[in-house]
Amino acid sequence: MSGTTRTGGQDLAEAAAIAIIIRGRCVKPEATFEVVNPATGRFLANAPDATPKQLDDTMEGALAAFHSWKVDDAARVAAMYAAAEVMERHAADLAQILTAEQGKPLRESVAEVETTARWFRWYADLDITPEVAEDSDVRRVVVHRRPLGPVIAIAPWNFPIQSAGKKAAQALRVGNTVVVKPSPFTPLATLKWVEVLQGVLAPGVVSALSGGAQLGSWMTSHPLTRKISFTGSTATGKLVAAAAVPDLKRTTLELGGNDAAIVLDDADPAAIAAGIFDRGFVNCGQTCAAIKRVYVPEKLHDELVDALAAIADNKVVGVGTDPTTDYGPVNNRIQLGIVTDLVEDALHKGAHAAAGGTRHDGEGYFYRPTILSNLDDGVRIVDEEQFGPALPVMSYKTLDEALARANDSKYGLGGSVWTSDLERGEAVADRIEAGTVWVNNHAQTLPHQPFAGAKWSGIGVENSRLGMLEFTQVQAVHVAR
Ligand code: NAD
Repeated sequence: MSGTTRTGGQDLAEAAAIAIIIRGRCVKPEATFEVVNPATGRFLANAPDATPKQLDDTMEGALAAFHSWKVDDAARVAAMYAAAEVMERHAADLAQILTAEQGKPLRESVAEVETTARWFRWYADLDITPEVAEDSDVRRVVVHRRPLGPVIAIAPWNFPIQSAGKKAAQALRVGNTVVVKPSPFTPLATLKWVEVLQGVLAPGVVSALSGGAQLGSWMTSHPLTRKISFTGSTATGKLVAAAAVPDLKRTTLELGGNDAAIVLDDADPAAIAAGIFDRGFVNCGQTCAAIKRVYVPEKLHDELVDALAAIADNKVVGVGTDPTTDYGPVNNRIQLGIVTDLVEDALHKGAHAAAGGTRHDGEGYFYRPTILSNLDDGVRIVDEEQFGPALPVMSYKTLDEALARANDSKYGLGGSVWTSDLERGEAVADRIEAGTVWVNNHAQTLPHQPFAGAKWSGIGVENSRLGMLEFTQVQAVHVAR
């Protein structure tokens, strides 16, 4: 690990002048909370703590903007293209703030902003012409997709801009307005991103408020909220679902996961180790649909564990601003505690740390990439979501057994099959209970690929045309002839 972050606390606060965005204006905070730099564990900047009155003002502004935003499809497409362009222009500045508060390497922060811009263009290009279900001598039936109104987009701390951005892109395309709430661990870059968008969007089309759980619950129960698009933990998702009920608000929930990777007996451990490692430790393991447990045939187990451990030992853990860094810190002290506890529990129960197994030296929330072997289902790190840089590898005897173990989970976000026989891989993929199953890949999301959680991993779909349509109300117009 080298140096300290260049983006120091006071500097960042002053340079970025972080504000909430209401009706197109940057509004000075009435109260603030502290944001910590995970690379130092110290104060980074103050973030605005939005009040109920500010929320009311924001929602009223979002409703006012909705009436004009929803009517002109061509204007929306043009505005979304302009938004993508302005994001790209500010990618370097936004990335500095994102790395300072989230911890990820700077190049990944830049990629996060650029990916969001690409998604804006992808949705802008979608044809949303109403479907004609019947056009006959007796009747004409047209199926419209009407926008809902103000949508709230609640995001977690792992991919703050991308998470809020993909929700916004889908909601905006079909005519909704959006109010974004980032996680209190990572509010700064998102607020700045929304500020940047104000240059090309009418006031109230996209707003942003920061705050904690209380703000989230005010937003989900606010009478002007017409749809909740939530990404976060399963525990919070259940609270959000309950909050939506009294008013029958539409909800899409993207929640936790405990994705299994199943290695087939025809796979070559040397060939797949890099892919499995990369997809398990993407974003320092803090990815909802990362590989969180690996099942490998007994005869391939040792070779795969050794290959994964060798990769782990060669990874550079350090501050995100250092270009040689592979993995930054865990984002926050609570998450570091969860990862540390789960690894210690596994070691205590006889697991072997083939790599890592401890925190990384130095200040900040750093943790060594950890490969655990000699453990089984029933150990907490196998059964629970670690959401961090530690990966358990278990051996299996039969494929049926591996599938049963992979599916024996409350979660069903993603899964993967690793094989040299793609046809066989696809057949095994059919038997995994998850919203997305990859063969020889994992955790890759694409704008045209639906993303849904099975079981406790979510309700509804995000991404692709299917996801976008969840931000609409179906209206059939039946004309009798
Ligand atoms: P979290 O549930 O603690 O917080 C997510 C967001 O919800 C934050 O903005 C938070 O302030 C807000 N919130 C908290 N209480 C709320 C309430 N009562 N009402 C409304 N909003 C409230 O999750 P986290 O720790 O930020 O993120 C990690 C979790 O998110 C992991 O479980 C991970 O798997 C999951 N996740 C899922 C996906 C997915 O697409 N399925 C993507 C990323 C992360």
